[in-house]
Amino acid sequence: MGDPRIIWNEQKLLENVQLLNQTCRQAGIDWIPVTKLVCAEEAIVASLYKAGIRSFADSRWQNLKKIKEQHSDVQTLMLRLPSLSNVAETVRWADMSLVSELATIRALHEEALRQQKRHRIILMVDLGDRREGVMPEDVLSLGKEIVGLSATEWYGIGVNLTCLGGVIPTPEVMAELVEWKIAVEEQLGHQLQLVSGGNSSSLPLLLDRTMPAGITNLRLGEALFMGRETAYGERIPGMHDDVFRLEAEVIECKEKPSMPRGLIGMDSFGQKPVIVDKGIRRRAILAIGQQDIPVSELVLTPEWAGIEIIGASSDHLLVDVTDSSHPVEVGSILSFTLSYRGLLAAMTSPYLDKEKE
Ligand SMILES: *Cc1c(COP(=O)(O)O)cnc(C)c1O
Repeated sequence: MGDPRIIWNEQKLLENVQLLNQTCRQAGIDWIPVTKLVCAEEAIVASLYKAGIRSFADSRWQNLKKIKEQHSDVQTLMLRLPSLSNVAETVRWADMSLVSELATIRALHEEALRQQKRHRIILMVDLGDRREGVMPEDVLSLGKEIVGLSATEWYGIGVNLTCLGGVIPTPEVMAELVEWKIAVEEQLGHQLQLVSGGNSSSLPLLLDRTMPAGITNLRLGEALFMGRETAYGERIPGMHDDVFRLEAEVIECKEKPSMPRGLIGMDSFGQKPVIVDKGIRRRAILAIGQQDIPVSELVLTPEWAGIEIIGASSDHLLVDVTDSSHPVEVGSILSFTLSYRGLLAAMTSPYLDKEKE
């Protein structure tokens, strides 16, 4: 050891899968795991596969490629709107993608013809969050253009909420999505198989049984890996919020004054440090820093009570361990839980080992 690492617990992950299976089954809908948060880490994908999962969603074609190469019998969904310059990769590695632009849909169609494949598309509708999606009043006119494209099968419609605008999924918003599905079927004579009602922020509607009929699918990342819904940021009852933890080793531990001594300039990131004088404190340095992940108290939470994050430079994280609930010395391994951003960065970082517990 010595290198910082991310440890994940397979048992807890599999129990989260079971709980999502149960919750969604009760509501009569499907869910698809979103693997971007864990960079489609091979061992994690293998674990989900073992649990019976055969569809995976990710926002990057590179991750979908990794999944397809690992398990050739799975279906893949591209979450981020495909770039025009990446339609070849999208068609090759994704069976289905979320779309909102006619030019992109046409390019996918042309590319699917070229690769002699069929590519399914889910038309995203902007129901208020103001990230991706066509405006509702444009669904039918755009729909008219895409029903005839033979190589791209218009498979469903979807919505994404609580990502940019912070809009909370309500039964009304979900019902609106279902209404657009019905409008497409009635006015364009085109059946849609899938109505994708959003991400982990839509889970509260399942939990309190207010999800309207007609929503057939959710795309779940944070709920699966972090045990949280994202509308109110609450832990989901019965789910594990500690599947992942970060460990780093103490490389120095000494009593030191909390105030610097000397002429004060800038810290290593060009900021003027703001320091509170707490007198002499027991301070530990951990072998992890900003180059590994953006370390701050917003991203990492020490598992032992009484430990406080002081700050970090490129390679060093300083914590105050004076009031730690457990003894800390050189060589101690400290453990942290991670925020969404922290886990995303940690899984992306080449400096962190990823280990199954
Ligand atoms: C990331 C993402 C999701 C999953 O979001 P979570 O909050 O992690 O469940 C679903 N859909 C789209 C389009 C996404 O980009």
